[in-house]
Amino acid sequence: MSFNKFAFDPKIVAGIEASKYQTPTPIQEQAIPAVLTGSDIMGLAQTGTGKTAAFVLPILQRLLTGPRGMTRTLIVAPTRELAEQIHSDITRLARQTGLRSLAVYGGVGKLPQVKKIRAGVEIIVACPGRLLDHLREGVLSLAKVEHLVLDEADHMFDMGFLPDLRRILKYLPAKRQALLFSATMPGEIRHLAEEILDNPVTVQIAHSRPTATVAQVLYAVEQSQKTTLLKDLMAKTEMSATLIFTRTKHRAVNLARQLQSAGYTATSLQGNLSQNKRQQALNGFKSGEYKVLVATDIAARGIDVSGISHVINFDVPDTVEAYTHRIGRTGRAACTGEAFTFACRDDRQIISQIERTMGEKMTRIHTEGLPVEVDEVRDSAPRSERGVRHGAGNSARPPRRDNGRPRGGNRTGSRERDEQQAGGNRPAGGRRKNHGRAAVLNSGSGNLFLNS
Ligand code: AMP
Repeated sequence: MSFNKFAFDPKIVAGIEASKYQTPTPIQEQAIPAVLTGSDIMGLAQTGTGKTAAFVLPILQRLLTGPRGMTRTLIVAPTRELAEQIHSDITRLARQTGLRSLAVYGGVGKLPQVKKIRAGVEIIVACPGRLLDHLREGVLSLAKVEHLVLDEADHMFDMGFLPDLRRILKYLPAKRQALLFSATMPGEIRHLAEEILDNPVTVQIAHSRPTATVAQVLYAVEQSQKTTLLKDLMAKTEMSATLIFTRTKHRAVNLARQLQSAGYTATSLQGNLSQNKRQQALNGFKSGEYKVLVATDIAARGIDVSGISHVINFDVPDTVEAYTHRIGRTGRAACTGEAFTFACRDDRQIISQIERTMGEKMTRIHTEGLPVEVDEVRDSAPRSERGVRHGAGNSARPPRRDNGRPRGGNRTGSRERDEQQAGGNRPAGGRRKNHGRAAVLNSGSGNLFLNS
């Protein structure tokens, strides 16, 4: 299947070629024809699937005809990083069309945005807060909007943006095409979809697709030994761009410093940074100036850096959805990647949830000298799923599959907390309660986190 069958205008074909897209991804195959015919869309898909171009390309095609200099498309995204990413995709894909896009979000000056809005833009990619400011101040009119896209709607709900979204909807004309994308469909999003979508076409991408290219490995480790394990892994594993996730801003900053002291080009990306500093960190990571980016979940969405070879969950995330988003930063666009997760005993419940949802166990690595207290031993896992023990003197590297990759898994779902909104994460060392019936072993069996 090729992009030819959509009969895009040559100006848009030029953007596709500049992006080096050869064939449409599954969501593009499904969504593009429906958007071109003007249907509303309910898209069940997450980032990494080619979702952005799936809505941007047909919208550009539709915008080619009709007036210029007024806002005809509004795309609402939950985070600044995602808004910036969508805006940059549009700029690339639309570069021969003369259509203009503007990213609108807080944390940066209003005036440059006001000037660009006044100069006339056809597409606005906005986060809800700053968008509402401009609307209330009468800077921006949405009266002529023909296409509304709500991206990562479940994430907007998690961040408490639904009331803002409903306020924004009041500024839009009743008659417009609406596209809603969400990786999960909690009840609130289903209600929102019912409110804003008219007879939508549902496009759905199997959750298992994106991470088929990501091998997932679990390291059981004491909290106090994580940095040692990380440095050991980094020394012994061939890594190119490496994205490391921590639970708190403070831990991100500290870990980046420790890695710098160990000689790595590392920086951190977390919510205490100004927007300029965030962008600098991201740009430095993209350009290769920094080989390692230590980030909080704020970076899990919207980061589209090609060639991330490794995602390391230095701290296990709180939700399955956050996990899938984090690891989805590698293995993008048909490249392969590895995701390492450092798990402590208290992470048992979430690990078992992640694995249940993925329908597959991560490969276990037991690292000698990093003891984890045994509090429950129920060795009921099938032998094929049992862990691998790496004794003293061995590398902590994961075993390789026959095809040269460790065992991988699938991915699903999406939802995560975002500190832009929440103002901070759980304090370092804060632990989860209510453990499930999974056991962490540090016995000769080398089995870790066995479900009982
Ligand atoms: P997204 O899900 O929109 O974040 O896209 C994930 C990555 O896939 C981005 O780097 C896109 O540029 C890339 N991409 C989107 N569509 C295609 C395509 N048809 N062929 C190859 N890469 C693509």
